[in-house]
Amino acid sequence: MYISKLVLKNFKSYKNAKIVFSPGFTAIVGPNGSGKSNIVDAICFVLGKSSSKSLRAERFSDVIFSSDKKTEKFAEVTIYFDNKDRRIPIDTDIVKISRRVNIKGQSTFKLNDKVVPKKEILDKLVLAGIDPNGYNIIFQGDVTRIIEMSPKERKKIIEDIAGISEYEEKKKKALEELSKVEENLK
Ligand code: ATP
Ligand code: MG
Repeated sequence: MYISKLVLKNFKSYKNAKIVFSPGFTAIVGPNGSGKSNIVDAICFVLGKSSSKSLRAERFSDVIFSSDKKTEKFAEVTIYFDNKDRRIPIDTDIVKISRRVNIKGQSTFKLNDKVVPKKEILDKLVLAGIDPNGYNIIFQGDVTRIIEMSPKERKKIIEDIAGISEYEEKKKKALEELSKVEENLK
């Protein structure tokens, strides 16, 4: 499974753009301020990132393309996954996800052209190891942050990536249940 295409409409500095990816390694180059990070922001946006700040925008409506002349009415990003290996548990060769945000900052999500709740998309993606709030995406500056943080914080990140945190959380819940049961028993 890999990202095969990204289509941006009125997203940040892109009025209309289509970026085609091949499997393997892709590098996007360009001068400062030319919109490289905006592409990463677009990927985070469409995958359901819940905080606008992490997309470097004060409010969600700030991601809408604006020029001196006017501000557009919405922004929309569509991501296409090549899913021939069915890594995403959806029975189509291409999985198409889109997110549109209006000036009020309200978002609508679509999965294969059908409007669905955001949770439905996140639940499917997490099964394929994609978590918009996880570490699939390393932002500009993150590398330095990871190097400079304390070993304890770094351990936490590694555990998140390895998927251990989820089990730690389940263990904590189970232990809580157990102590309740013991209390009842007494
Ligand atoms: P660097 O190499 O410095 O990291 P970059 O290529 O990552 O640069 P970005 O941060 O992606 O650049 O793009 C910044 C540009 O995006 C700025 O010129 C900014 O004006 C523009 N931009 C951001 N939001 C919007 C918007 N809503 N409408 C139009 N342009 C926008
Ligand atoms: Mg950048």
